[in-house]
Amino acid sequence: MTRVPIDRSTTLDDVRAAVRDWVDAHVPDPWRAAAAQGGRAAIRAVRPRADYEAWYPTFADSGLAVPTWPVEYSGLDLAIEQARAADDVLAPYNLGRLNPLGINSVAPPLFNHGTEEQRLRFLPPLVRNEEKWCQLLSEPGAGSDLASLATRAVRDGEEWVISGQKVWTTWAHFSDFAICLTRTDPDVPKRKGLTYFVVDLHAPGVDVRPLRHIGGEIDFNEVYLDEVRVPDFYRIGDAGDGWRVANATLTGERRMVSGGGQGGFDRIGGSGMDAIIRRAAELGRTTDPHLRQRIAALYSEEQIRRWTNQRVADSGGKAGPAVASIGKIHNGAMNQRIQLLATDLLGANATAWEGAPTAGPEAWADAMPYEVKGMLRSRANTIEGGTTEVNRNILGETVLGLPREPDPFREAAWKDVPRS
Ligand SMILES: Cc1cc2nc3c(=O)[nH]c(=O)nc-3n(C[C@H](O)[C@H](O)[C@H](O)COP(=O)(O)OP(=O)(O)OC[C@H]3O[C@@H](n4cnc5c(N)ncnc54)[C@H](O)[C@@H]3O)c2cc1C
Repeated sequence: MTRVPIDRSTTLDDVRAAVRDWVDAHVPDPWRAAAAQGGRAAIRAVRPRADYEAWYPTFADSGLAVPTWPVEYSGLDLAIEQARAADDVLAPYNLGRLNPLGINSVAPPLFNHGTEEQRLRFLPPLVRNEEKWCQLLSEPGAGSDLASLATRAVRDGEEWVISGQKVWTTWAHFSDFAICLTRTDPDVPKRKGLTYFVVDLHAPGVDVRPLRHIGGEIDFNEVYLDEVRVPDFYRIGDAGDGWRVANATLTGERRMVSGGGQGGFDRIGGSGMDAIIRRAAELGRTTDPHLRQRIAALYSEEQIRRWTNQRVADSGGKAGPAVASIGKIHNGAMNQRIQLLATDLLGANATAWEGAPTAGPEAWADAMPYEVKGMLRSRANTIEGGTTEVNRNILGETVLGLPREPDPFREAAWKDVPRS
């Protein structure tokens, strides 16, 4: 295990030098050569995903995957500007963080509401990608109105027994653990009777059934929980306090979708403007004045989003959770416009492409140009992590001080509220 020998007292120049030394010693030669010669595309060509996953614990052990986290949870306890200096050195090597839902959605509730024992148990293997994570929040009858969810958890001695159905669970089909929001008290108003757990997805009673996106990939799943037993140690926060704990997850996820989360995750679906500009040149489309204007406008907007995310990160949390909703609304809509531009560059080839097979929708989707896949995937950006409408409601109520949405059942016990 080779942790980079830097800490909060290290100067920015020394941070850069130490990270360069680490790269020279630990990033495999062919990957470094590819980075020097051809950037990300060249790296992808010599670095299959399986090789990256096998090497990844070396990166995690350096502390550079989560540089601002405390050392005991696999970080380096660096200040934001030190972490940025380290990331600048790493950027050409495209060392994307694995387990992004773990880092962005699971770690915040553990930091804010978990016990020290829980943090030590779950965070180091999460950072090493040895235990992969997903989130069991949405249900067929509870999406935007998440607090109305029906999955039940009942205490049985030192264990809890969980039964219910979750849906749209991204990456459940290869995850080891999930965070799970459950109802433990139906006799109180909906937000008060919730409790937040960790669920071992390999436990008896868990049934994961994959669903396929319009772009062909399997990303999300239905998850059935049939009397799944979890130890009380897996409860994060107090029984009945799950809504507060879940908000740490929701804010972390919104930050991730806004491009301002941990680990350089800047969009879900498609490519960034740098790659799209290169592609436009390859396709000979940079002389079209209309396209040039769209490219320039979206390039500028993407830069502004990046700088805004940097300002939020620099505020060290002082900007408050509402900025996650602002970023999420903006980045989701902007990425849709960016991916539509990438698709438009293809002209007629975006609607009919060579080699489209006749056998079945999956094979058809496999042959789809990656720009079209990116564009289709980006349609979900204004839904996942809370829809744009719901995030606007949050901003209206928490930032603008507008009246709350009317809810005749606000004080009613959950069990007395009509449900579809
Ligand atoms: C790609 C993708 C990945 C996802 N991954 C996960 C995951 O890993 N884990 C998980 O738990 N969930 C996940 N989700 C689910 C996601 O959180 C929900 O889809 C989302 O919260 C919306 O809920 P819903 O689909 O039930 O829509 P609904 O809540 O039924 O909303 C339908 C429409 O009504 C609007 N609406 C609803 N309530 C209001 C209101 N009060 N005011 C104004 N408009 C309103 C919505 O904006 C939307 O347009 C994922 C979704 C997608 C698309």
